Order: sequence, then structure tokens, then C-alpha cells
Amino acid sequence: MQFEDIETVAVLGAGNMGHGIAEVAALAGYEVTLRDIEEKFVESGYEQIVWSLDKLAEKEQIGPEEAQAAKERITPLVDVEAAVGDADVIIEAVPEQMDIKKDVYSEVEEHAPGRAVFATNTSSLSITELSEVTDRPEQFCGMHFFNPPVRMQLVEVIEGDHTSTETIDAVDRLAESFGKAPVRVHEDSPGFIVNRVLVPLMNEACWLVTENDATVAEVDSTAKFDMGLPMGIFELGDQVGNDVTYHVLEYLREVLGTAYEPAPFLVETVEAERYGQKTGNGFYNYENGGVDIPTNAGTEAIRERLVAVTANEVGHLVEAGVSNPDDIDEAVMLGAGFPEGPAKMADDVGLSRLVDTLGDLHSDRNHPRFEVSDALREAAEIGGFHAEEEGVVEAETEFSTLELRYPGDMVGQIVLSREARMNTINQTMLDELREALDTFEADDDVRAVLVTGTGARAFSAGADVTSMASSAEPLEGVELSRKGQSAFGAFEASPLPVVAGIDGFALGGGFELAMCCDYRLASKRSELGLPEHNLGLLPGWGGTQRLQRLVGMSRAKEIVFTAERYDAETMYEYDVVNEVVPNDEFDERAHELAADFAAGPPVARDLTKQVMLKGAEDIDAGLELEAQAFGHLLGTDDLMEGITAFMGDDEPEFEGE
Ligand code: NAD
Repeated sequence: MQFEDIETVAVLGAGNMGHGIAEVAALAGYEVTLRDIEEKFVESGYEQIVWSLDKLAEKEQIGPEEAQAAKERITPLVDVEAAVGDADVIIEAVPEQMDIKKDVYSEVEEHAPGRAVFATNTSSLSITELSEVTDRPEQFCGMHFFNPPVRMQLVEVIEGDHTSTETIDAVDRLAESFGKAPVRVHEDSPGFIVNRVLVPLMNEACWLVTENDATVAEVDSTAKFDMGLPMGIFELGDQVGNDVTYHVLEYLREVLGTAYEPAPFLVETVEAERYGQKTGNGFYNYENGGVDIPTNAGTEAIRERLVAVTANEVGHLVEAGVSNPDDIDEAVMLGAGFPEGPAKMADDVGLSRLVDTLGDLHSDRNHPRFEVSDALREAAEIGGFHAEEEGVVEAETEFSTLELRYPGDMVGQIVLSREARMNTINQTMLDELREALDTFEADDDVRAVLVTGTGARAFSAGADVTSMASSAEPLEGVELSRKGQSAFGAFEASPLPVVAGIDGFALGGGFELAMCCDYRLASKRSELGLPEHNLGLLPGWGGTQRLQRLVGMSRAKEIVFTAERYDAETMYEYDVVNEVVPNDEFDERAHELAADFAAGPPVARDLTKQVMLKGAEDIDAGLELEAQAFGHLLGTDDLMEGITAFMGDDEPEFEGE
């Protein structure tokens, strides 16, 4: 079955996952049959689809006609033959039990057309074993959606031992056509990628408590506030269900060995039937206060141990040929909401350090989970999982809050890199921003600068409030304001064109930095604003002046006084943002824009920036400078190049001379 030939999709099981998958397929334009074993189950699934489509229409995420058309494309059924008799792809989402699934495949094999591809949504069972129940193991693969399928972007597309290239390609493209981000899993290995990373992480959190190395509060504070994870690890465990985590671990232990034995603290919790939110009690007690994570109880030792164990898991996945560091990072960010992937997090700490940490723990505790994987050791030797990635400046760089990249096309990229703190700006970052800009200005191979934030949550969420609090004296405050004004001002005055690539929050100081750039590109999910008035402050890094130049005084006052966050589209209407792009097109467009600016005439562009800046203060001075600059440009080689290229209908190649 080729992707182009897929028209009809059958979904087996109308429960939590099945109804969501059917909805996604119908929204993508496929004819869908939805099958369950009893009328009441299939009807309930269909009703949930109708509810969800109506909600999407109400929130204007889809039009009412689109919702109606999707409803009409789905046929709820109990009869198997009618459900699968004309299906091109059959996605199975029945309960997670080998015998039930095997029965389903035996039954379906009888009625499905020979061309049909089978895809199982299993979270943990062996795809190869399931495929062998059918007469078409080569037309069988895993298609692991995340809950809820309508909202979650990730789909792990898994190859069984017999899966053909044609099948895996078709299912991969099918997931893409559903508007999802498929990540290939090359080996049928327990937990695939996301659960294989998350579940051992949860187990390590439990080991920390078991071995009296940390408390629940310390672990969750570290995870949430120091590592920037979307929630505490125990908080997540309670949400997933501690019984579920336990069973997955038991399965991992059975297949992969004792490194995955459940930690005693987890075992006790499960034995006491404290399964988490669903039972009202887990690591937290939901009948008595619920989750309560202190902001400052995290420690570096806990962070390092959690990152080390996770890095080791990445190593195991790479070693077994299941995946590669880039795909693992993408999957975990999309499937678990991590601000950065586990391989990148490990690289940031330094793999050699993590190998040492694991080595020390292994000598101390003698547990197999601390045995360093070969792939982690090898990656440490070459300087990181992503060491060979094009353009990342070697780790020796002296920057601690930024990363400098050379992504090609004469672009220099400054990445604000304090992901655990939403890339907030502290004094060190102010110093480093200047240094980074100086580095690029002095580099003949850089002709444009792109400033972005690391992770998918923020360009920068503003000034680091803790660094502000340490400047509580008025005079120190004045200095801090001047320091930011001058660091950001350097970007405005730079001879290089500067693009701010905003993906996520650009608030307070982050927004003020973006205001100093020559062009602001924002992804659709971005939000911009100046929340200083909420704190009894005012925008002190140029915001009171530069914003009014962009939007006029009245609008600037509105933005400052309301202290609200404005979405990217509104900021586009206000002329703050030059361009808004869909989230998944952001990276490509940011680079394309910067590359486009880099190809422009360096001298003319530098002078244009200077003249405009001057004119903003005083139009007569600006006009005079314009005349001088115009005269100067008549004598440059770039002008000759520009004219020659124009006459020959070619692209000019400016030298900046
Ligand atoms: P569920 O219990 O909500 O739904 C399963 C449905 O399958 C039920 O409605 C049941 O009546 C139906 N069913 C049973 N036998 C059937 C048959 N012979 N034919 C058709 N339907 C049948 O379960 P779920 O949470 O939707 O999980 C389904 C699958 O998806 C499992 O393999 C699970 O591991 C996987 N999964 C679940 C999640 C999650 O978060 N719930 C996430 C990813 C994958």
C-alpha cells in the first residue's frame, strides 16, 4: 500500500485513544470506520468525537463546516466485516493485552482486503509478535499516538522485524497527513522512545527517595524549577498512574534486565494502592492538599543524577539502533513536553561529567542501572551526542548563558540558553550578549545575526527576577537599567542586520531585546508583552522609548499599562512583529530571513541603519547623514557589483567594500 492510495481508515476500539485517532483521521479528510464490540461503546466514542469537534469549532480552531464534514466522514460500527472490508489502513486501539489483540488480528485478517496495512497503537507490546498472528507481517507496524491524539503532535512510527519499507513509509506519511509529527522507531524495543526515557527517569526519582538521597519535594523542585520540566517527576507519576509505571518497568526488566527493577519506594506505593490522582492518593495526597512543589528545594546533585541516568538511557537507545539523539530529543520534547531533549540536556551538562557521575554511583551502589552504555561513553569521547551537529561552536566557548552557532549562509546565531529559567536575562547574559555580538561583528564570515531562545517555550521571559532583587538599592537599579540599555542598544546600532526569532514568550526584557532587532519574526504560538507594571516597575531596558517608536505613543502606553501578554497576530496588527509564521515553519523561515539579509550589501545596509537611527532623533541630522552616506556609496565596489548583477539579471555577490 502506497501512501497516495490511502483513502479509508478503520479504527478498532472506540475508547480513549481510538475515538481520538478516528477524529484526527476524519479531520485530515479520510473516510473512517470506527469499530467497537458493543453498540454502546461505539456510540459513546462517537459522541466524544462530536463533543470534541464542536469544541474545536467553538474555539475557532476549525470552521463549523469542517467539523460537520468530519462528523459525516466517520461511520460507527459493531460489525467487523463492514468496518474493515474496504479499509486501506486499519489502526488498532483495543485494550493493552496480548491475547485480546491477537484475537482481534485473527478476526480482522479474515475480512480485511489484501492491500490493507495494519498499524497497532500498542504502548508496550511486541509489534513483531503481533504481526506474526497475521498473514501479512510485512504490512504491519506500530503507530503509537499520545493522549489525547487530537492535541498531541507526536506519533512514534515503529518498525517490527518484518515491516516492509513501503509499509513504514506509508504509515509515516499518513501520520504527517494527520497533521502530526511522526518520529521513526527503528527497532521494536520495549517502551519505544518516550516511555523508555520517561519510565526509568521516574524510577530513578523513586530510587533517590528509597536510598535517602532526596525527598519527593526536592526531586520535584529540581525537575520543575531547575530542569524546567513541565511538571515534577512524582507529579507526572501520579498523573500517569503508579501502577502503570510499575507494570511498564516490570516489562522492561523482563526484556532488558535488572537495571529496570522497580525501586522499593515505587513498589511500596503501588502495594499500598496509592496509584496517584485516580485513587486520590499517590506520591501526593489529593484529598489533602494535592501537589505542592517548593520553588527552591532543588539541588545540583539531584539534577546531575537524573540527567546522567537519562543520558544513559539515550545511550542504550542509540546503541540498540532504536533511534538517534536528534529523533530522541524531538520525540521527548513533543511527547513529554520537555523544554529540551534529553540528549541536548546531557550535552549541556557535559557527557564526560555524566559518565564520571554514573561511574561513581556504580562503584558506590553497585546497581546495573549505573553501568555506562557504550554509546554514552563514545559520545562523551567526541564531545557530546550532538557534537557533530553542523555549526555548534565547541564546548570550550566561554559563554554560559548563550550558545553561538554558525548555521550557514553567513548567518551568526545567538541562542539565549537558560532553558530551565525560560531564557531569562541576568547580568551575565547582558555581558555575554555584547561579547557575542562583538564576536560576530569581527567575523568576516558573518553578515547577519539571528537571535533566538532555546527550547520551545520562550524567546526570553524577561529579566531574571532573582538578579533584579539583588539590585534592590536605587543606585544599583539605575546601573542595571543602563547596563541593559547599552547591551541591547548595541544590537540596534550594530552594522549587521539583526533578526529576532521569537518562538514562545518574549516578555519584559526579552521583548525589549527583540525591539532592538531590525526585524521580528514570531511563531503563531508566541506571546509578547511588558509585565513590569504588574511588579510595580517600568520597562527599564529601553522599552519606554523603543516601543513608542514602533507603535506610537498611545499604543505603547496601552501595552505598558495593561501589562498583558499579546498574541503574535495582535502584535503583528500593532506593527510590533513583522511576520507571523506557523509554529512548524518557524525555524526554517528564521534562517531563510537571516540568510536573505546576509546576502544584502553590507556597507549600504550599515549606513542605512545609522542614518535611520540618527533620523529618529533629529530628521535634519538624519537627512544630512543620508546625503553623506549616499555620496560615500557611489565610490564602493559593492555598487559596481550591484549594477553589473542588475544589468546581467544575476544575483549580486557583495563583498562589503
Ligand atoms: P480503552 O480501554 O479506553 O479503549 C479500548 C476499547 O477497545 C474499549 O472501548 C473496548 O470496548 C474496545 N475493544 C475491546 N475489544 C475490542 C475488539 N475486539 N474490537 C474492537 N474494540 C474492542 O483503552 P485506550 O486507553 O484507548 O488504549 C487502547 C490502546 O492504546 C492500548 O493498546 C493502549 O496501550 C494504547 N495507548 C493508550 C494510551 C493512553 O494514554 N490511554 C496512550 C497511547 C497508547
